[in-house]
Amino acid sequence: MKELILEMEHYAKENNVPIIEKESIAFIMKYIKANNITNVLEIGSAIGYSTILMASSTQDVKVTTIERDENRYMECLKNVKKAGLDKKINVVYQDALEVNLSNVSYDLIFIDAAKGQYKKFFEKFKYFLAPNGVIITDNLKFHGLVGKKDTIESKNLRSLVDKIETYIEFLKENEEFETKFLDIGDGLSVSMKKNDK
Ligand code: SAH
Ligand code: MG
Repeated sequence: MKELILEMEHYAKENNVPIIEKESIAFIMKYIKANNITNVLEIGSAIGYSTILMASSTQDVKVTTIERDENRYMECLKNVKKAGLDKKINVVYQDALEVNLSNVSYDLIFIDAAKGQYKKFFEKFKYFLAPNGVIITDNLKFHGLVGKKDTIESKNLRSLVDKIETYIEFLKENEEFETKFLDIGDGLSVSMKKNDK
């Protein structure tokens, strides 16, 4: 298992796959353990790095993960198999915004896909959150670019940072959810449904 993880880290580096930072996945694994999380939904599997680590946090946890890129989906499947976790991980090859989920709820929803669509993911998947569940989002610092829009020359990049900033505002002003912003890795948010809503 340790070897596979190292192999995946190496592959990610070589192929420019943006996998989660060590500190951030350590936080999520601890969260899964401490809160007895059994059902996780991940948006953005890439090659299955965070998926596999989440699924190996405890005996009981199960992960459904969604990936729209065919190569990454295939790579993810391969790694899940290598890890011997096919019974705990369900990999879905589809655009998350087109996926139909029914009669399921998740204790933890991890948003880690296209940064420009964060708000859409949140609005879609919040309906699948179990009572007391949380939505965790990665990359809210976007490699240190959030808050430094003026220094960015590329228009596309600036617009992406703009969307992340809008998402952060959306979370801060959200009446339904209480969000904590953690300065861990590339920036994580943890959003919990308010009890009276
Ligand atoms: N969670 C992974 C990294 C994910 S990188 C890890 O930490 O190991 C983000 C991934 O999200 C990319 O592979 C990209 O193809 C995928 N993605 C982006 N938008 C998506 C969408 N709308 N639906 C499904 N997957 C998406
Ligand atoms: Mg990420």
